[in-house]
Amino acid sequence: MSTWEKNIRKVTPYIPGEQPKAPNVVKLNTNECPYPPSPMVDMALNGGNKERLRLYPDPDASELVEAIADYYHVDYNQVFVGVGSDDVIGMAFLTFFNSDKPIVFPDITYSFYDVWADLFQIDYVTKPLNHNFEIVKEDYIGENGGTIFPNPNAPTAVEMKLEDIEDIVKENQDVVVIVDEAYADFGDVTALELINKYDNLLVVRTYSKSRAMAGMRIGYAIGNEKLIAALKSVKFSYNSYTMNMTSIDAGVAAINDDAYFREVVAKILKTREKTKDKMSELGFTFTDSKTNFLFVKHNSIRAEVIFEQLKKRNIFVRYFNKPRIDNYLRVTIGTDEEMDKLYQALKEIVEQEKAD
Ligand code: PMP
Repeated sequence: MSTWEKNIRKVTPYIPGEQPKAPNVVKLNTNECPYPPSPMVDMALNGGNKERLRLYPDPDASELVEAIADYYHVDYNQVFVGVGSDDVIGMAFLTFFNSDKPIVFPDITYSFYDVWADLFQIDYVTKPLNHNFEIVKEDYIGENGGTIFPNPNAPTAVEMKLEDIEDIVKENQDVVVIVDEAYADFGDVTALELINKYDNLLVVRTYSKSRAMAGMRIGYAIGNEKLIAALKSVKFSYNSYTMNMTSIDAGVAAINDDAYFREVVAKILKTREKTKDKMSELGFTFTDSKTNFLFVKHNSIRAEVIFEQLKKRNIFVRYFNKPRIDNYLRVTIGTDEEMDKLYQALKEIVEQEKAD
């Protein structure tokens, strides 16, 4: 091995869910929204002046930051935007996790956290979820270099109570606590109401799920202005022009159409509850999902078998071959029609396995 090869930064990248190229697949594997973005986004995209694209975008993405700040009734200086919440969280790892103590996150959680920790050479420890796949708050209290967890958690779909989150933030005031609220619009809890009470709390959100814009790549963080200023300093030391003009326009249009957003979320929740009833009939059990996906297990057929059988029928769900969750599937909530196709396929698979 040559010296330059030895000096390469060794990383094991995050593996996102498959984006199948085949037509007519039922895609329930990456928690995207099954509905299009707000019609206002369409207007913003088509009405945009293309000539201006010769210019650099506003590095502060001010219009988008303002629109998000207005929406949440927070100050402009309390909002940071990035290219998807992955960008925002990656930036937050780089900015806030610099202590000599390890950071803490759950053993079963978003599988990008350990990748960022490795990339930025941040020491970490994982804490096991309990048998109900719940985060045990006591594990996050005590000496650590910071903490991050999604609420609701992924892929378990389980939501933590606000009092427990507050205890973690309150008992960790020497470090930054990041609550990744990628799925919070489908649940009952948000830590946003704590941001003016605790200066060590950063809440991260995304346009990729509830706002139906995974392809546009918009994420944001809300927190104390000192946290936001620190994030901006790191971002402007790396790449100033991350948010392109088109994303900024589309992001403003989407957040301003609250009625459409609420309608989409309500439809997904309705389909989620219906899907639970139908899947129970087939022998599936699941956690109490507060997200746009279900974390399911069958009472007799192995998850991997179901995963493969569904794939043969062009239905994609997510299977994680990892300890403790290797008999579970994560199933995104699609349209009613897609969930009917899933139900029919699962019925067939269950009947076939029983006959064998
Ligand atoms: N956090 C969690 C918990 C997620 O599941 C995802 C989606 N993969 C993200 C963050 C990142 O989403 P995005 O970069 O699309 O905003």
